[in-house]
Amino acid sequence: MEKINIHGVKMDNVTMDEALEYVVGRLDGAGAAKIYTPNSEIMMQAQRDSELKEILNQADLLIADGAGVVLASRILGRPLKEKVSGIDLVKRVLEYTEKRPVSFFILGAKPGVAEMAAQNIMSRYPLAEVKGTHHGYFDAEEEDSIIDKINDSGAEILLVGLGAPKQEKWIHRNAPRLNCKAAMGVGGSIDVLAGTASLAPEFMRRAGLEWLFRLIKEPRRFRRMLDLPRFILLSVKRRLHPEPDEKSFS
Ligand code: UDP
Repeated sequence: MEKINIHGVKMDNVTMDEALEYVVGRLDGAGAAKIYTPNSEIMMQAQRDSELKEILNQADLLIADGAGVVLASRILGRPLKEKVSGIDLVKRVLEYTEKRPVSFFILGAKPGVAEMAAQNIMSRYPLAEVKGTHHGYFDAEEEDSIIDKINDSGAEILLVGLGAPKQEKWIHRNAPRLNCKAAMGVGGSIDVLAGTASLAPEFMRRAGLEWLFRLIKEPRRFRRMLDLPRFILLSVKRRLHPEPDEKSFS
C-alpha cells in the first residue's frame, strides 16, 4: 500500500474498498492487525507526542478519519484518495458478513453501551456475531482479565473505543498478546452503533462538516477542536517551507 507522509505520520493511501479488502484479508492471516483512524485532532496530538506518532507509524492500516486529514494531504500536494472513517469501515465490515460470517468483541464506552451496540449489530446483521463486550472504564489491574476475556471469546475483530490516544496506546501495547485478527481503534463509534450518539447528517458529512456537528453537540470540545485549524495552518506552512522528511513519500 502506498504511504503518504503527513507531518511525519505515514498514512495509507487507500479507498474504502481497499481498506475493506485489507481487513477481510487479515481474517485468514496470523497476528492481530493494528488499525487506527486518526482525525485532524489526533494528527495534531501526534506532533506534540512522539510516542503517539511512533505508534501511528507502526499501524498495519492507518486511514484518514475526517475531511481535515484529506484536505491537509491536498494542501501538501500529495493527496489521499479519500476519507475512510472508522465508523464507515466498521459498517462495511458488518455488511461484508453477508458473504462470510465475522465475529467481534466490543471494548469501550460507558457501562451498558457496548451491550446495546452488540444487540443492534446482531439484529441488523445476523451473520455478525458479537462474542463479548466490556466497558471502557477499567483500571490497569483489570487489563489481564480483559485480555483473557477477549481471547477466550475467540472473536476475530476487536473494536476498541476508549477515546484517542488512549485506544491507540492500548492496542499498541496489547496487540502481541491478542489472539484476534484485527484490533481497530473506533473512538465514539460504539456509541453510534448503540444509538446513544448520532452521526452528522449526510449533507454535513458530504460537506466535510462533521467537526461542526460535533461542536454543536459537544461544545466542551471547543478547545480540543482548535487543533483542526492548527493542523490546516501547519499544512499550509509546510507546503510553503517543507521540512526534509516531509518531502519523502514513505
Ligand atoms: N471512553 C472510554 N474510556 C475512557 C474514555 C473514553 O471507554 O477512559 C469512551 C467514551 O465513552 C466514548 C469513546 O471512548 O464512547 C470516545 O470518547 P471521546 O469522545 O472522549 O473520544 P474522542 O472522540 O476524542 O476520541
